[in-house]
Amino acid sequence: TFKALLTRKDGDTVSTQVVDFEEANLMEGDVLVQVEYSTLNYKDALALTNTRPVIQQFPLIPGIDFSGVVLESGNPGFKAGDRVVLNGWHLSQTHHGGLAQRARVRGEWLVKIPDTLSTRDAMAIGTAGYTAMLCVLALEHAGVTPDKGDILVTGANGGVGSIALAILSKLGYRTVAATGRPEHADYLRALGAADIVDRKTLSEPREAPLGKERWAGVVDAVGSHTLANAIAETKYRGAVAACGLAQGTDLPTTVLPFILRNVTLAGIDSVNAPQHARQEAWDRLGTDLDLDKLNSTVQLIGLAEVLDVYEDIIPGKVRGRIVVDVNA
Ligand code: NAP
Repeated sequence: TFKALLTRKDGDTVSTQVVDFEEANLMEGDVLVQVEYSTLNYKDALALTNTRPVIQQFPLIPGIDFSGVVLESGNPGFKAGDRVVLNGWHLSQTHHGGLAQRARVRGEWLVKIPDTLSTRDAMAIGTAGYTAMLCVLALEHAGVTPDKGDILVTGANGGVGSIALAILSKLGYRTVAATGRPEHADYLRALGAADIVDRKTLSEPREAPLGKERWAGVVDAVGSHTLANAIAETKYRGAVAACGLAQGTDLPTTVLPFILRNVTLAGIDSVNAPQHARQEAWDRLGTDLDLDKLNSTVQLIGLAEVLDVYEDIIPGKVRGRIVVDVNA
């Protein structure tokens, strides 16, 4: 047996405990991994609090991501000893997740960790950092280069936002961080933010469909009016990468930014991204992220401590990344 968190449903009540789990009860897959680290993301908080129906079958081991070392592999792409990371796919939805000391998964869900990163770095990055990289790649693909102007990052103190700031600054972009927690301004500046704006300046509904052109690009983890206002302030031929819904799932905008300013709205999905997109993102994370900055975003906790922290995430009380050492 090994230690795992297990989420159960009893009537309308969803609860999670630390249990001893039998390896034989893991689900199907051709690769067995000794998990070293997992993380707590916004989506994990949605799952553990049952705020949204992330988990689709119970009981289930939660955790949408993990890093670790391959123990056994029937997949030609992987062998014992390979260091691997998994983000998304069906984990914590219909397949046992990463908040456990072992995982059995399909090889096609795994990505090899670049040599420059440890398994701990890989989870300091986690799904949030990998999603931040997917956002940066989307801006690059849309032609947003550092000389085009400022990049707005919303939800800046969160996992996606923090790591987006660190990546963008290493790549030479000037960034502006939108946050509801200006008391963490020093942290945001240390990550690379050149300027900080109060998120209230972006989160309220506006009458005018277009605003002053301010952003060459946007990384948005927030959605709703914030995303609509960010689009309305995006410069001619700029691009907006939309990955999150912390303010809401609505998008009250008009077509005017798209047809008058040629703005590109790029959708970002990390969960079902194809293998080549994942490997590209992870390879770039191996070179384009300053590991000292990354480590400044991390709080390390043990498996059982997850139960003390997950309720703080949706109210936005957590800063940066929570890495879980599943063996502590
Ligand atoms: P997180 O660490 O909890 O960060 C979310 C941040 O959003 C908070 O730190 C806060 O930043 C801001 N925020 C919270 N409530 C808000 C509100 N009502 N209005 C405006 N801003 C608010 O979460 P995360 O793991 O970084 O994820 C961020 C978002 O991206 C989530 O919605 C998550 O579901 C989504 N996501 C999507 C994908 C994908 O594949 N598309 C992958 C990963 C994450 P400040 O305190 O700085 O204001």
